[in-house]
Amino acid sequence: MSSLDERVRAWVHPRIRALHAYSVPDAQGLIKLDAMENPYGWPAELRAAWLEHLQTAALNRYPDPSARAVQACLRQVFGLEAAAPLLLGNGSDEIIQLLTLAVAGPGRCVLAPEPGFVMYRLIAQAVGAEYVGVPLRDDFELDMPAMLAAVERHRPALVFLARPNNPTGNVFTRDGVAEILRAAPGLVVVDEAYSAFTDHSMLGEAGRYDNLLVMGTLSKIGLAGLRLGFLTGPAAWLDEFEKLRLPYNINVLTQLSVEFALRHKTVLDEQARRIRADRGTLSTALARLPGLQVYPSEANFVLVRLPQGRAEEVHARLRAAGVLVKNLHPAGGVLQDCLRLTVGRREENAALLSALENALQAG
Ligand SMILES: *Cc1c(COP(=O)(O)O)cnc(C)c1O
Repeated sequence: MSSLDERVRAWVHPRIRALHAYSVPDAQGLIKLDAMENPYGWPAELRAAWLEHLQTAALNRYPDPSARAVQACLRQVFGLEAAAPLLLGNGSDEIIQLLTLAVAGPGRCVLAPEPGFVMYRLIAQAVGAEYVGVPLRDDFELDMPAMLAAVERHRPALVFLARPNNPTGNVFTRDGVAEILRAAPGLVVVDEAYSAFTDHSMLGEAGRYDNLLVMGTLSKIGLAGLRLGFLTGPAAWLDEFEKLRLPYNINVLTQLSVEFALRHKTVLDEQARRIRADRGTLSTALARLPGLQVYPSEANFVLVRLPQGRAEEVHARLRAAGVLVKNLHPAGGVLQDCLRLTVGRREENAALLSALENALQAG
């Protein structure tokens, strides 16, 4: 082994060396239905107005450290009170990291139902927090006796509940969440990344519980490239987390672009409505394909189960046909034989359906 390798081995923390970097497949030239992005751009006039707005950017200056204008826009469009505490992240992934860092330590654990959003576990492992995954029921609803027993046994510092859940697409019952809120000794974070595609939200309840934080993101409604996530809840918690937030985590271009985009949010809302309607059309068409089990979804993706043992091959056939979706089979457990399909433009959904039909017949 070279002396360089030896030095790296000696000095990088064993916990970090044991990790694998989050890998994103190359989507070049493919219809990209793997990452829950909004497939629509902006009308030409809106793009022109946005570029005009960006001309005011002072790239030589640090951004507003609190992104106050962005905060004000977020409160307005998400119907929060003018004084509602907010913490902003460079994507909600950064907020998950910040929360986990704030609580990590010996005997502190992070708990989440599984299957769920993989970053909860990856970030816990990266920052040295213990992670406990509690299996969902076969219908993907919270297994309440198991959740409550795990909360009792592990006394988690942090519980993450994605609502709607990724990758299953369902919304955990409000009663279940409320019961976990009452039982949890620490924080419960309700992650509403897909709020644009469902009528269920607990944003209005942030502040009603000592231990409820509600998290949102602009990624799934069409601004994934900007990286902006937010968290709201009691100021007593947020003031502590604010100490960990790097002062300029929301850059100048993101701040200006978010303000502009949220002023024109009706465009994004209209796109979300179309995606919601197309999710129904896509689900109905998928359900007609032989051997495919389609799960109901309140998000901008649909989870499907293929005939046993076919996921790898069908995923590869879709890719060869120019359609990239997420293969969940490697995750195992209840996700065996499953693919997650992001709802795209109508012509993209049609291409997916036809490629999937061919792939199923080919086996
Ligand atoms: C996509 C997703 C996020 C990540 O959002 P970013 O703001 O882009 O970091 C968070 N939570 C869930 C459940 C997601 O699916």
